[in-house]
Amino acid sequence: MRVAVLCLTVLAVLAYAFAPAREFQRRVDCCRNLKAFYAGETALEALRCPRSGGGYDRVILPATTVPFPHIIIVEPLANHGDEGGAVLYSDGHAEFLMKGNYLSRIKSDRERVRVFLASQPPTELRNDDAP
Ligand SMILES: [Zn+2]
Repeated sequence: MRVAVLCLTVLAVLAYAFAPAREFQRRVDCCRNLKAFYAGETALEALRCPRSGGGYDRVILPATTVPFPHIIIVEPLANHGDEGGAVLYSDGHAEFLMKGNYLSRIKSDRERVRVFLASQPPTELRNDDAP
């Protein structure tokens, strides 16, 4: 009986000790997922977070319309227990941001994109298809 309790204790301690490393690896894998999407290797809808099995969301605007790097895909915070989420930028790099940074970067990117688009002249309606 004592041996069994000791074994369970050792297992619990090991699981606790390695949990941060496992979570770190999952965050790396999430960034890898988003880079694979950027590279055209897979559809966004087919990707799943290795921690929760949750998906990813598109935000802001397609990369082609805005000339500076900005966040285009985010992972919902719920995927990593509200700790943070992976984000993909329009230049193809991905990173895992902790919650505070995640929220402020998304907010500031939305604002930068909004200001940029507001500064652009309105696109003229083209009539190439007219007879
Ligand atoms: Zn994830």
